[in-house]
Order: sequence, then C-alpha cells, then structure tokens
Amino acid sequence: MSSNAEYDAVTSSASTHAVVSDIASDSSAVCTNTTKSVMRIGIGIDTHALASGYKLVLGGVHIKHNCGLVGHSDADVLCHAIMDALLGAARIVGAHDIGELFPDTNPSYKGASSIELLAKVGAILCDNSMRVCDLDSVIIAQRPRLSIYREAMRTNIAAALGIQIGQVGLKATTTEHLGPEGREEGITAHCVALVESE
Ligand SMILES: [Zn+2]
Repeated sequence: MSSNAEYDAVTSSASTHAVVSDIASDSSAVCTNTTKSVMRIGIGIDTHALASGYKLVLGGVHIKHNCGLVGHSDADVLCHAIMDALLGAARIVGAHDIGELFPDTNPSYKGASSIELLAKVGAILCDNSMRVCDLDSVIIAQRPRLSIYREAMRTNIAAALGIQIGQVGLKATTTEHLGPEGREEGITAHCVALVESE
C-alpha cells in the first residue's frame, strides 16, 4: 500500500489526533495536539521568471527542461513557497519570511540549495518547539509536465523537514496558456502549512 493509500485509510478514522500520530512513525513529526499546544496555519506564494541558461529545480529535484528559473539562490519556487508558509505559521520574530531569514543581499545565499534552506527552516521551527503537521502545495507551470517528478519532490521535502511523505501534499497545474505562467514567462508555487506550537 502506498503512503497515500495509508494516509487515505487513516483519514477515515475518527480523530485528527489519531490521523497524524498514525502516519508519523518519527516522533519528531507527531502532532500531539495537547490542550497546551496551539495550531497555526501559514500560506506561502512565490513566482520566479523562466529564462534560458538556468537550471530548473523544484522541490530539490533537477528537472529536464529547455530553460530554468532565475533567482539569487537556485530559485526553487516550490521550496520558497513552503518556507514562507511554514514561517507564516511559526511567527518567529526576525524570521517572518524567507526574505528576512535568507536575504538575497547576502552573498552566502547566492546559488544556495533551497532544499537545504528548507531543512534549516525546519530546524528553526524545531528549536522554537514547533512541529510541522501538514503541508499542501500547488505548482503552476504550463510546461514541463511535472507529475513524473511528484514523488521525488515529496520525498525530498519530507526528508528536509523530518516528516512523513504522507504529510506533504503536492499538485501541479497549468493555466491553459493564460497569464504569465501560461505564457511560460515564469512558474508559481503556493503552499499552505499547519504547524503545532507547544
Ligand atoms: Zn523565491
């Protein structure tokens, strides 16, 4: 049975507490939802321009394409949206978004691996007694087709955050050739995250 099938099976059980506990064998990922904890949601949205001569990296996966995303780091728009969603939920002073945490004026982040930055965000949440309960993400791209990369991206994201793959939702969609993504001028990603704070 796949991770998704397992997740679907447990979501039919009665309590949300049981759902998250059942899918998370790693104790660091268990969302205990005690009376003292606070559940917070966050949203992250990011867009980068497409240009020839750049690599296309999404969810830490190098994707074959005739062009890539332009940015100070590796321009992994999916990881950036996830980081902003997590930081939006965490509400840590001095780390309200990735621009504040990893400023593009800092040369040390030039060409940085965003999946590694995502792992740093996960560690920052952990240091602040927060756990990632769940994510759902959407990549908006006219091309290339991303479905064959979905499981590799989910695996990378789950590993970076120390959570189970069943806690990482990921979809890809086109805009039927409408707008900047449809004209292949750029790629956008959205993410919502649920974080538990003790
Ligand atoms: Zn970005």
